[in-house]
Amino acid sequence: MTEKDLLKKIDTYKQDVIDLQTNMIACPAVSPTQGGKGEAQKAAYLMSVLKKMKFDEIKTINVKDPQAPAGYRPNIIATYYGQDRSKTLWVMAHMDVVPAGNLSDWKTDPFKAVIKGDKIYGRGSEDNHQGIVCGILAVKAFMDLGLRPPCNYALLLNADEEIGSEFGIIEILKKYPKTFGKNDVFIVPDGGVADGSMIEVAEKNVIWFEFTVQGKTTHGSTPKAGINAHHAGARLIVALVDGLHKKFNKKNALFAPESASTFAATKHEANVPNINTIPGTDVFCLDCRILPCYTNKEVLAEVQRIVKKIEKQCKVKVTIKTPHIDASKPTDKNEPMVKLMAKAVKEVYKITPKVVGVGGGTVAAALRNEGYPAVVYAKLDETMHQPNEYVSIKNTLGDSKIFALVAYQFK
Ligand SMILES: [Zn+2]
Repeated sequence: MTEKDLLKKIDTYKQDVIDLQTNMIACPAVSPTQGGKGEAQKAAYLMSVLKKMKFDEIKTINVKDPQAPAGYRPNIIATYYGQDRSKTLWVMAHMDVVPAGNLSDWKTDPFKAVIKGDKIYGRGSEDNHQGIVCGILAVKAFMDLGLRPPCNYALLLNADEEIGSEFGIIEILKKYPKTFGKNDVFIVPDGGVADGSMIEVAEKNVIWFEFTVQGKTTHGSTPKAGINAHHAGARLIVALVDGLHKKFNKKNALFAPESASTFAATKHEANVPNINTIPGTDVFCLDCRILPCYTNKEVLAEVQRIVKKIEKQCKVKVTIKTPHIDASKPTDKNEPMVKLMAKAVKEVYKITPKVVGVGGGTVAAALRNEGYPAVVYAKLDETMHQPNEYVSIKNTLGDSKIFALVAYQFK
C-alpha cells in the first residue's frame, strides 16, 4: 500500500462529498444568539455517519447553553488510532453556520443543496462543511484500505465558531484540556485562497477599541461656551493612528498582505442631528492588528498615554473600552507539520505554497496560545458568509488528499 493508493481511493469519493454536503446543508446550524437552533441536528446526523465508520473512539462534549433548544451545544471527537498512539494529528472544523441573510439575494434555497457541475450550493457548504468533509474523507481512505497511519488521526467538530467558540474549542481547552496530548498538532481547514497556495501559521494580535469622548454640548454659534467632543475626537483619532503606527513600526515579511501592524479608524457613531449644535459626545472605534513581536499591554499603555495628552489639550474626558482583545502566539514556520503540509500541497495541486501570517480572526489562535502547532489551510473560492455560498467538489477531494498525505507521514 502506498500514498498513491490513498489518493486513488479519495478520487472515488465524489458521491460521498455530495451526500455529506446535502445532509449537512439541510441542518441549519445557526447560533441561538442569531435566532437559530444551534448544531444539535447536524451533530446527530454526523454522529450517525461517524458511527458507521471504523473509528476506535467517538465521544461528544456537550456544553450547556440554555439559549439552545437542545439545552447544549455539541462538540464531536472521533479518533482513529495510529501505530503510535502517543500523539494525534487533529483536523478541527466547525458545524455552525452564519445565517442565510437576505433570502432574495439567493438564487436557490440556502438550506437545500443544489448541485451544478463541480459546485454544491448551500449555506455552510464552504464554511465549514468543506473542512468537515475533508476531515472525514481523508481518514475514510485509510479505513477503506485497512491502513493505520503512523500516529492517531482525530476529528474535532466544534460548535459556536462563528460567534467566538465559547461553547466550542475555547470551552474544551479550558475545561477538558486532557483531550489533547502535548505532542498533538492541528490542521484547521477554515481559511485559504482560491489557488490553494496559502498555509497560515500566525496571526496578529487584535485589539478593538471604543473611545467615548465627553465634552459639553452648546449652540453652534457659541462654541466657546461648550467643549466640542467631535473636534477633540478627530484630534484623538489622528494622534492615535499616527502615534501607534510610529511607535509600533516593525515589519515581518511572514505577514501578508500587511507586513506591519495596522491601526485603523473604523466605526464612528452618529452625534447630533442638526448642524447648529456643538456635539458634547463623540464615539469612535479603532481596529488594531499588532505583530506578535509586540504585546497588547504595550499598545494599551501607549493608547492611554496619547489619550491623556488629548484630554489635557482639549479639556475632554475619554473612556476607553476594548470590546475584543486577543493575543496569538505564532506556529513556527519550520515546524515539521508545516513542512509536511507544504509538501502535500505541492504534490496534490502542483504549486509551491506560501507560509504566511494573517491579520487575525481564526480559531487557530486559541490552539496556538496553548502551545499546539496549528496550520490553517484550505483551497477555497471564498464564498463563505455570502449569498449563494458554494463549495467545489474538486477542492474538497484535493484537500482530503492533502490531509491524508500529512496523516500518512506525520510521525
Ligand atoms: Zn468558518
